[in-house]
Amino acid sequence: MKTNQLFNDLTQIVGKKNIITNTENLKKYNNDWRGFYNNKSLCVVFPDNSNMIKKIVKYCCKKNIKIVPQGGNTSLTGASVPTYNDKEIIINFSKLNKILEIDKSNLTILVESGSILANIKEYLDKEDYYFPIDLSSSGSCMIGGNIATNAGGINALKYGSMKENIIGLEIVTGDGLVLSSLSKMKKNNTGYDLKSIICNSEGTLGLITKVLLKIFPKPHNNFTFFVAYKDLKTCIKSFNQIRELYYDKLESAELIPNLSFEICIKNNFLKKHFFEKKMPWYVIYRLNLYEDKTLFQDIFEKNFELINNNVNDILIPNSINQEKKIWKFRDDLVEAYKIEGKIVTNDISIPLDKMIDFFNIAKKNIKKINSKIKLHPFGHIGDGNIHYNMILPNDVSNGTYLKLRNKIYSYVNELVEEFGGSFSAEHGIGQIKKNSLLKFKSKNEIDIMKKLKKVFDPKNILNPGKIFDA
Ligand SMILES: Cc1cc2nc3c(=O)[nH]c(=O)nc-3n(C[C@H](O)[C@H](O)[C@H](O)COP(=O)(O)OP(=O)(O)OC[C@H]3O[C@@H](n4cnc5c(N)ncnc54)[C@H](O)[C@@H]3O)c2cc1C
Repeated sequence: MKTNQLFNDLTQIVGKKNIITNTENLKKYNNDWRGFYNNKSLCVVFPDNSNMIKKIVKYCCKKNIKIVPQGGNTSLTGASVPTYNDKEIIINFSKLNKILEIDKSNLTILVESGSILANIKEYLDKEDYYFPIDLSSSGSCMIGGNIATNAGGINALKYGSMKENIIGLEIVTGDGLVLSSLSKMKKNNTGYDLKSIICNSEGTLGLITKVLLKIFPKPHNNFTFFVAYKDLKTCIKSFNQIRELYYDKLESAELIPNLSFEICIKNNFLKKHFFEKKMPWYVIYRLNLYEDKTLFQDIFEKNFELINNNVNDILIPNSINQEKKIWKFRDDLVEAYKIEGKIVTNDISIPLDKMIDFFNIAKKNIKKINSKIKLHPFGHIGDGNIHYNMILPNDVSNGTYLKLRNKIYSYVNELVEEFGGSFSAEHGIGQIKKNSLLKFKSKNEIDIMKKLKKVFDPKNILNPGKIFDA
């Protein structure tokens, strides 16, 4: 099909203001966050209502035109950008961004799928309600993207991932059917749970247009504390003790190696270290409180002797400002680390009781691959999800870097599998982990996934080349 004809037809559906065809202006949408992928799309369209989306999909299905659904384009796996050159259009959801209804009686909020996560959280905060999913990318990622990736983030420890926080969805399938399941009932066992299949499908089964989310009364206070540990064994022991003591309150537990401070200071994200005496490991904890903070602080101090043995130093922020600085440091970590250049990122999960063995074996063998590699594992220790990242020496050539990166990916994934973990805990598969999926999932699982894909998207027009080649 001629591209001019395509542009004219799409313009008829979305209007002149809602389409970009200029090569230069398309770059922003074609390139992924990490800068690994830059295939060219044919154009980007910005529908501003569900009906437009249905029309675009029906049109593309008829003409066999491939679609890349795109939210905030913060995917770390190349899932939100084209797989091929000049073959796909991008549907960007940023104009489908209305907050439609908050229901305080049933504790739900209905939003359009292009709503930015931070905007939903801010809106609820003003109403004294809370939506717990929180990522360092919250200011740019969109709720549809969060669902399509089953995003996890720093609060999954208490509230689960995205999947646990959705009540209903409206989607458009690959042949333009609208499936709307927006009942507010949390107990609703009526046939297959289609929303669970859409969650984590990375835009390959349907386009999410509306989302009904679970909300919570806003915690009256938060209590953050930052603990320094002399080694990983003590750190995990201490985490277990803190979890036992404050199980119902513990929202986040974020592992930070000392190298994180150095990276943030070097790249101007942090002025100085939070602790005077440096230790190899730290964990930032946050508790949600529905009781009075001063009363809780007394309890915390009384309980402190129960955890003191394993704690080398502790920082309890003395102001909201200091608390914000601590969490900003955690948020900035991904950006600061990206600047380091030749990096390797692994988004893995490991059972907590096996974490120390995993770290020891992985470190020994990665140093054998290249002794100058700096390990930088950090992240959501509370649910075993570690970003097992590393920085390669800057003097390796680009070619060597790519070879080493692949070697490290394979090695880490194999080891994770041996330890009964997951090679992709929260970022998904996208383009970057397709080979690992084929390697580690059984043939039966892959076959069923491919059959599902055929049912939802018979012509394979939705996000082709993501998760697997259909
Ligand atoms: C600094 C930084 C920190 C991050 N931290 C975390 C973290 O802690 N936890 C975590 O889980 N992830 C994290 N991520 C990854 C990323 O932010 C999440 O995967 C996020 O959920 C993606 O949302 P998005 O709107 O940017 O989606 P995009 O990147 O645009 O798309 C992601 C996938 O969703 C699909 N998609 C998007 N919108 C729709 C829709 N409406 N319908 C159907 N499919 C759609 C796309 O096709 C693609 O497959 C981080 C990323 C960055 C850059």
